[in-house]
Amino acid sequence: MIAPACKHDQVKKHGHDRDGNQRFRCTLCGKTWIQCKPQGQLGPMRLPIKTAKLVLQLLLEGSSIRSTERITRVHRDTICKLIVRFGDACQNFLDMRMKNLTLTHLQFDEQWTYVAKKQARLTTTERENCYDIGDIYLWTCVDRKTKLMPSFLIGKRSADNARRFVKDVASRLVLPNAHSSDNHAYQAKDYEITVQVSTDGFAAYPEAVDLAFGPYVKYGTIIKDYKNASMIYTPSEMVGTQRTGRRGIDKGQEWTICTSHIERLNGTQRLFLKRLNRLTLCFSKKLRNLEAAFAMFAAYYNYCWRTRKPGKSGKKRPTAAMMAKLTDHLWGFDEFFDAVLRPATQS
Ligand SMILES: [Zn+2]
Repeated sequence: MIAPACKHDQVKKHGHDRDGNQRFRCTLCGKTWIQCKPQGQLGPMRLPIKTAKLVLQLLLEGSSIRSTERITRVHRDTICKLIVRFGDACQNFLDMRMKNLTLTHLQFDEQWTYVAKKQARLTTTERENCYDIGDIYLWTCVDRKTKLMPSFLIGKRSADNARRFVKDVASRLVLPNAHSSDNHAYQAKDYEITVQVSTDGFAAYPEAVDLAFGPYVKYGTIIKDYKNASMIYTPSEMVGTQRTGRRGIDKGQEWTICTSHIERLNGTQRLFLKRLNRLTLCFSKKLRNLEAAFAMFAAYYNYCWRTRKPGKSGKKRPTAAMMAKLTDHLWGFDEFFDAVLRPATQS
């Protein structure tokens, strides 16, 4: 409640403002003030919770903003505001929960998309000055066993972003504390390998992995060669792979280097985030919206999405969060929604 504007105590009700808050007016001096309703889970947004949930579920199942607008009759600008609000909450939710993880085999990859327009359409000034339009890459990472996506980063494809991203992922893992015991590890063989990392051939990765994981990592790169890679409407045929062990990978163990799981996850992202669909009219107009939408996808994927088991059984695995022991049961959308928005309402 906004404090009364005067010290008098002769007060009368004075209608409501546009948000439905009660107004008061002092009968002596005529000053007015309002009594604010307590804010709900969506803060200042007046959208009913039931409708908001429907909108978010449609978006998470790959509907476009316009089709969601047509189904739910919520205006597209409201939908964008909801994406930003919920997406930011998802980012906080992930930052709080993706900590002290124990993962075994991380696969890194970056996926191309664009914001506002494609790189070739940028003007010379835009090309020099704008970091948030044109080609943008989604840096993602998945653990082979649990299928957990501990972190992601959205930005240009630069060595700086590679370092920031790999360091961010490493900071979420439990790595041995150097010099914590008397057994000082001066020689390479004394370091305990805790995690394996596989990446593609992007030149900035080796340095970034070295910087972030130091000696506690087994690291290899895999480069896949394709025939007809430039023909976009036909699947290109893989003609060969080149696996290189970079650190800690023994002779004959190169076959463990693998980025197939992150590539499959890229496919899921392309399918379930409408703005990432290839060869359609969909794209993000603002980097801010892309970041929020992707945070929403990442949180939903980790806590609610069940990947299928290999083979033809059609059976599904538990969610990534369950596999990584972050939760002990399957989350429905309602539980997910409440958990994501709870910290926002408490603070
Ligand atoms: Zn007064």
